[in-house]
Amino acid sequence: MTIYNPTQCPPASEIDIPALHAKYLRERDRRIKKNHNDQYIPASGKWAEIYEVDPYTPVAPRDPVTGETDVVILGAGYCGMMVAAQLKKAGIDNFYNVDHGGNFGGTWYWNRYPGIQCDNDSLVYMPLLEETGYMPSKKFADGYEIHDHCQMIADTFGLRENALFHTLIKNLKWDPEINRWHVGTNRGDDIKARFVVLAMGPLNKPKLPGIPGIDKFKGKIFHTARWDYDYTGGGWRNPVLDKLGDKKVAIIGTGATAIQVVPYLAKYAGHTYVVQRTPSTIDARNNRPIDPEWYAAQKPGWQEERIRNFHHAAMERLAPHEPDLVEDIWTEISRNVNAELEAEGWPDISMEEYAARREVMDYRVMERLRARCDIIKDPVTAEALKPYYRYLCKRPASNDDFYPAFNQDNVQLIDVAETQGLEQLTENGFIHQGVEYECDCIIMASGYEVTNDLDRRWGIDTIEGREGISIYDYWRDGFQTFQGMMAHNFPNMFFTGFTQAGANASNSKTFIDQGFHIGYVASQAINRGIAVVEPSQDAQDAYIKHLRSVAVDTSLFANECTPSYFNNEGDQKKKRSIFGEPWGEGYYAFEDMLGAWRSEGELTGLMLTPESTLEPAE
Ligand code: NDP
Repeated sequence: MTIYNPTQCPPASEIDIPALHAKYLRERDRRIKKNHNDQYIPASGKWAEIYEVDPYTPVAPRDPVTGETDVVILGAGYCGMMVAAQLKKAGIDNFYNVDHGGNFGGTWYWNRYPGIQCDNDSLVYMPLLEETGYMPSKKFADGYEIHDHCQMIADTFGLRENALFHTLIKNLKWDPEINRWHVGTNRGDDIKARFVVLAMGPLNKPKLPGIPGIDKFKGKIFHTARWDYDYTGGGWRNPVLDKLGDKKVAIIGTGATAIQVVPYLAKYAGHTYVVQRTPSTIDARNNRPIDPEWYAAQKPGWQEERIRNFHHAAMERLAPHEPDLVEDIWTEISRNVNAELEAEGWPDISMEEYAARREVMDYRVMERLRARCDIIKDPVTAEALKPYYRYLCKRPASNDDFYPAFNQDNVQLIDVAETQGLEQLTENGFIHQGVEYECDCIIMASGYEVTNDLDRRWGIDTIEGREGISIYDYWRDGFQTFQGMMAHNFPNMFFTGFTQAGANASNSKTFIDQGFHIGYVASQAINRGIAVVEPSQDAQDAYIKHLRSVAVDTSLFANECTPSYFNNEGDQKKKRSIFGEPWGEGYYAFEDMLGAWRSEGELTGLMLTPESTLEPAE
C-alpha cells in the first residue's frame, strides 16, 4: 500500500521554486571556503591521541606475528566482517582481520556518544539478520545493539580467533620473489599474505576543524568518535551525563552525529552552545519497536527483498505498484512521486519527466522539513536552523528532541555561517562576532577525513605494488580499477567500498556483495593453484571505458549543494568524490554483470600466474 499524505508537504503552487533555487545558491556561495578540505586538521601530531588512543579497551600485550596467511583483511568493521564471513563461506579459513579497535564493529566500536543510533532502517542496515537469526529491537537501533550484533556475527562465523585488534597496518609491500604481500604493522608484525583486502570503510579517521587558536584552549577537548564518559559521567548504555551539571559545553558541528548528541547535552549540561555552520535536515523520528509476530512471519529472503526495495526508493526509482517497505525520510520523495503517479493511473512517463517530478517534490519535502523548525520559539534561531539546499545535499537526519532543545534556557545556537566557521578559540572558550564565550569543554562533532589524499585518509604509510608503484601515486588523479575491486600493478589486492563499483543505498549490502566477489576470486585462485591474479592493463582500460560510458553525471547537483564532505567541500576541481565512480546502470545491473562474469568461470581479464612460475601469463 502506498502511503502518501499530501497535506504534509505544501503544494507546489504555494512554493516559489525559482526564488528558492536562487536562495539555495546564495546559501552555498556564502559557505564555500577557499581552502576546501584543507580547512581541517588531521588527527595526528599534537592531535594524534584523538585517533590513536582507545579509551574503551586496554591494549593487551602480544608477540609480533610473522607467519604466512592466505588473506589479510584491513578492518573488522562492517566491511571487514562481511569480507571475512564471505571468505569462510568460500572455504577460506586462513586469514586475519586486522583492526585499530579493540573488538569487532568499526564505526560501531568507536562511536559511543550519547544518543547514538543508526539513522537507517535496522531491518535493511543490520547485515545477515536471517543468517544470525537476530531480530533488531526497533526501527532505528541503538549503537550498542549494533555493536553487540557485530559480536554475534563474529561468533556465528567463527571470526574471533582470526582477529588482530589494536593493530594499525603501516606498510603493505608486494614481494614478487615469493608472490606475497608483506604486511607491516605498528605492533612489529611482518605477515606474509597471499591476498590483501582493504576494508577500512569510508569514514574512519576523525578530523578536527581548523579553527584559529585551537591549540590555545585550556579546557577539555574530545571528538565524538572517542567520547570521554570519565569527564561527562554516564556510560554508553546509560548516558546519564551527571558530571556536566556545572559545566558550560560547546559542541562544534550540526551533522548527523551532533543532532543525536545535542538533546543529551541539553538535558545534562549546565549550558550548551551549539556551534552551527550549516543546518541539517531533521525529520520526525517515528522510531518504534519491531513486532515479533510480524518478524516471525517473514519468509526466507525477506531481508534481501527489503534491501532491494530500499535501494529502489532511496537511489533509483520505485517501479509502478512497488510499495515502499521502509517508509521514512530516505524514501519519501520516491514514495510521494509514485503516489502521484498512482493517483493519475500510472501514466507511462519518460525518465526526464520522472526526474522533473522528483525535482518539484524535492522542494515540497524540503519546505515541510524547514517548517519543522517553527516549533522553536525564538524566530531568529528557528530561521537559522532551516536548511536551504536540495534534499541529499547533506545526509538527512531524524530526531524528535533536537529542535525542542532550543526552547530550553540552557541551550544556545551559535550561528557561524557568515564567518564560515567559528572565528577563534581562546584559552577559556571561543570568540563569536567579537565576543568571548567561556566554556569548560569543547566537543568536536566535526566528522571524518574524506580528503582526496588517500594516504591522509587511510593512515597507511606505504602501499607498494609491482616495481614499487605506490597506490597513492597511481590513484592520485582518480581511481583505476577492474570491477572496482582490483587494480593493475597491485596483484592479489582487493579494494572495497566506493571506488568504481556498484553502490547500494545500504553500505552493508555493498560490503556483503563485494565480500562474496572477493571470496570467489580468491578461492578460485587457491583451488586452481594460481599464485597471482591481477587485471591486465587492457581489461582494466576496457572496464573503465565502459564504466564512464554509462556514468550518470551528478556534478550539477553536487555543485549546487552547500559544501560538505559529500561534494569535496565545494571544490569542483577535485577528481575524486567520496562516492567514487558508481556503476551508472544501477546497483543490480552491476551485480548481474559480475554474476555473469563469475558464471563464465574463466576469470576473464585477469592475468593468472600459476604457483610454479613467477611470470604473469594472460
Ligand atoms: P559531518 O562531517 O557530517 O559534520 C561535521 C560538522 O562539523 C558539520 O556540521 C560541519 O559544518 C561542522 N564543522 C566543521 N568545521 C567547522 C568549523 N570550523 N566551525 C563550525 N562548524 C564546523 O560529521 P558527522 O560526524 O556528523 O557525520 C559523519 C557521517 O557519519 C554522517 O554523514 C553519516 O554518514 C555517519 N553517521 C551516521 C549515523 C547513523 O545514524 N547511521 C549517525 C551519525 C553519523 P558544515 O556542514 O558547514 O561543514
